[in-house]
Amino acid sequence: MAKKIGILGGTFDPVHIGHLRSAIEVLESCELDEVRLIPGAVPPHRATPQVGAQQRLDMVRLAVEDVPRLSVDDRELRRQGPSWTIDTLLSLRAELAADDRLYFILGEDAFAGLNRWHRWQEILQHCHLLVLQRPQMPVELPDAVQALLAECGVADVTAMQQSAGQIALIRQTPLAVSATAIRSLRADNRSIRFLVADPVADYIQQHGLYAVAAEH
Ligand code: ATP
Repeated sequence: MAKKIGILGGTFDPVHIGHLRSAIEVLESCELDEVRLIPGAVPPHRATPQVGAQQRLDMVRLAVEDVPRLSVDDRELRRQGPSWTIDTLLSLRAELAADDRLYFILGEDAFAGLNRWHRWQEILQHCHLLVLQRPQMPVELPDAVQALLAECGVADVTAMQQSAGQIALIRQTPLAVSATAIRSLRADNRSIRFLVADPVADYIQQHGLYAVAAEH
């Protein structure tokens, strides 16, 4: 029986309820078998994370440890160099059966930058894309991404009958939460409780993460 595996890549600096609720809602609405959260090492398209790889991984582990069918996959942190998504897809594909389906889950802000990804034109050969709405973050798709959506977009996930190569826009419950906002709350010594899973909030507190001024 072919498996349906969702993957959610990110910096997770830190992992928050926007990631976790999206993962669960996509898992349920798209009838996936599992969703793997894959923290990236050296993000090729953005600023260096504030917190090191091991602690970001620890936080994702804590966030998913009691959640059925969510897991963490540390392959990008075990690799040297930049975390190119194409390499991650190829390494996952090498472990799966040919008819297993991979669904790469990403927010529309990340989708808008797709044409700057390494070997971006090959991504859809290995997976489908599930694009999450990102509230309070208006995005304009560049022409190349717009053209890809016009060519490969389907009305909804049930129309994804091929093993890869299609794009669906997902209307999950919008949560206007970002890691940037969480870091900034911490920097202002304000609470982040309920924006992240409780064990993650405890970990951030215990290790004094993101709160430069408050810890001295
Ligand atoms: P930052 O604020 O540091 O840029 P972030 O909150 O966007 O971080 P990432 O780890 O960069 O978190 O996100 C990983 C993936 O999850 C990206 O594809 C991003 O678009 C998506 N994502 C993050 N937060 C949300 C959210 N609240 N709703 C939907 N998708 C989200």
